[in-house]
Amino acid sequence: MDLLALPAFNDNYIWMFHDGVEAAVVDPGDCEPVLAALDRLKLSLAAILVTHHHQDHVGGLVGLRARFDVPVYAPATEIIPGPHLAVTGGHSVLTIGSRFDVIDVPGHTRGHIAYFHRPADTAEAPVLFCGDTLFSGGCGRLFEGTPQQMHRSLQALADLPEDTRVCCAHEYTLSNLKFAHAVEPDSAELKAYTRWCEQQRAAGLPTLPSRIATERAVNPFLRCGVATVIDAARRHGATSHDPVEVFTTLRQWKNEFQ
Ligand code: ZN
Ligand code: FE
Repeated sequence: MDLLALPAFNDNYIWMFHDGVEAAVVDPGDCEPVLAALDRLKLSLAAILVTHHHQDHVGGLVGLRARFDVPVYAPATEIIPGPHLAVTGGHSVLTIGSRFDVIDVPGHTRGHIAYFHRPADTAEAPVLFCGDTLFSGGCGRLFEGTPQQMHRSLQALADLPEDTRVCCAHEYTLSNLKFAHAVEPDSAELKAYTRWCEQQRAAGLPTLPSRIATERAVNPFLRCGVATVIDAARRHGATSHDPVEVFTTLRQWKNEFQ
């Protein structure tokens, strides 16, 4: 499966995967970058996957459906423009010969879902489309859900196979890593990863996809049980080492961080 991150707006990525003939896209906030890529690669569109209802993830649906009569898979409990197939945790989606398991990841929005694909060919790494739930080095803001929900959602993603390619919907990595440094200033892994991400950005390349193993090592929001992170959270108001309390404190700290 070929994976492509199509830049959109300031910092969104619309993920496209294809088999050389047909393509599917995830969270097309804008139809233009998708149409341009389909044209350039001589692909036809086979399906659209949506993770949540925000405009920067669904804004291109109408334009794409005007050109292609394709299924749109979208969260069952959110309001999504136009005809679509409502999916929720436990469902799976079959497109271009690949099966995606739907995972409920409430927190950023109430009905946010992620799509996980484990290739039959074990030489190929699994793929996760996680929208605005997990970012490299960070996580989405809690617009509709509770910290408990978001913490549980992130844990579910952290438990996926280590080599899973993590396809996030925004290029927020460097700014997230600044915060991660504030939480764990002595982490050598974090420093090495930051250098690599800086080189990618300087070369005009995405820092994504990330890997679950990388996120477990550097992302403070997946490290709420780690002593250095707990200590940092306690210095910023956490009243216990309870992982949800630590998560809540980190999320609040990051909201105010600059
Ligand atoms: Zn969003
Ligand atoms: Fe977004």
